Amino acid sequence: MKKTIRELNLKDKKVLIRVDFNVPIKDGVIVSDKRIIAALPTIKYAIESGAKVILLSHLGRVKTKQDMKTKSLKVVAEALSKELRQVVQFVPETRGLILESKINKLESGNVLMIENTRFEDLNNNAESKNSIELGKYWASLGDIFINDAFGTAHRSHASNVGISNNIKESAIGFLVQEELSMLAKAVYGNKRPFIAIIGGAKITDKIKVIDNLIDKVDYLIIGGGMAYTFAASQGFSIGSSLVEVDKIPLAKEYMKKYSNKIVLPIDAAISETFADTKPIYNKDNSLEIPKGYMALDIGPKTVKLFRTILAGAKTVVWNGPMGVAEFSNYKQGTEAIANIIAAQPNVFSIIGGGDSAAAIINLGLETKFSHISTGGGASLQFLEGASLPGIDAIKESNSNVNQKQVKTAPVAMPSLQKAENPLPTVSLEKNMDKTSVKLEILPQKNQKHNESVQNKTQTIKASTTKTLDLEINKTAMVNDKTGKISVSNDKTSVTNLSKKK
Ligand code: AMP
Repeated sequence: MKKTIRELNLKDKKVLIRVDFNVPIKDGVIVSDKRIIAALPTIKYAIESGAKVILLSHLGRVKTKQDMKTKSLKVVAEALSKELRQVVQFVPETRGLILESKINKLESGNVLMIENTRFEDLNNNAESKNSIELGKYWASLGDIFINDAFGTAHRSHASNVGISNNIKESAIGFLVQEELSMLAKAVYGNKRPFIAIIGGAKITDKIKVIDNLIDKVDYLIIGGGMAYTFAASQGFSIGSSLVEVDKIPLAKEYMKKYSNKIVLPIDAAISETFADTKPIYNKDNSLEIPKGYMALDIGPKTVKLFRTILAGAKTVVWNGPMGVAEFSNYKQGTEAIANIIAAQPNVFSIIGGGDSAAAIINLGLETKFSHISTGGGASLQFLEGASLPGIDAIKESNSNVNQKQVKTAPVAMPSLQKAENPLPTVSLEKNMDKTSVKLEILPQKNQKHNESVQNKTQTIKASTTKTLDLEINKTAMVNDKTGKISVSNDKTSVTNLSKKK
């Protein structure tokens, strides 16, 4: 379990907070302040706790000196100042004596923001390549580090991993905690039926997500450009639709193995060119796309089919649009799916950022979803079941006590609580530092039973190792001498699980 901000005494401490202020800016004006608003709970908490707050964020990519003109965080500092109704001192530096002296003059409750961390990329990509020197330097500016930037959690940069590795105390902020908690609840919460909707351009970008979710879900709905590689694998002619020829065998394999779970579109909005033309709907009740046409969106029959599949869903995880949602004529499919989920009662719905999130926000349906992730790449990596370096680098929690005060959805112990499929296998994945491992619990049939968990008996098999870094909010320890594993979170306690020799 990662330490959270509430577990630390921030009073009079210099608290470095990594936030995600990578806001869209047009002609010097902030177009959406959502990311600023999302960071407020952590910043306000730090101020109220008497911290001397030092904010770090990136803004866009900085490749040339010219980029520095349009990628300054000054405008963000001004906007934040308005939100907080207090001065946010902006220092247009990422290092140096001026910055250090201003930090040293901070009083408790003051807020200071440094310049775009990616200005350091003009220095041999020091930020993006996680320069040890830069991580150490930024860490030296504070006493405590809080990572509240979920959007960069999948990256190993100096302003997240670098600082974490070089500072005594670190913790996650409220936004990161909420993101992890919600994503875990969706993927491992086992509220069924569980349906994943995966769309977007390419299978290549989403294959790991499909791989990780396919055994967990009841249905996997596939839309977007990638649907046509699947369609091609089933022998449909797909006209000039998007296709990844090298992925056709893989798609075929999936269709064979998971024919009872994968749901493909059955009609499409088609166009002769990749442009926002008036759509034509292929009349046949099939994925057959006529020669000279490409499928740019799902059609009305598919919407009807997906509606039937989604009816009664208790968990929905959605990543990627159903069509070219940037084109006003081809966004209907994506919008229709958004409306279907939004209208559904009692569904725990997670949107994994990116284009699908944008569609929901444009439709004003945000409040109808349980959670819309602020980090497209990070949530995708979470859905892949991969670890997030920015989170891994944060110190482990010493206690559970303060965690309970934090307002986040409870994270259930996934497989251990699931009646239909109660037999988990534990698989271990070594982290980069080789001392800890990520532990994934997979429900599996035909496992031996020899341990009692909430009145259900089961075995967890694990390979060797010392400390297991379980899903968020859970920790696991393996005792090498006795070969016993104990797993716990605030809801479930499991001990004496036999270790595979
Ligand atoms: P992703 O970033 O993988 O979620 O993919 C989003 C992109 O997929 C968007 O830019 C869409 O334009 C694109 N996309 C979705 N459906 C199609 C399609 N049928 N043909 C071509 N591109 C598509």
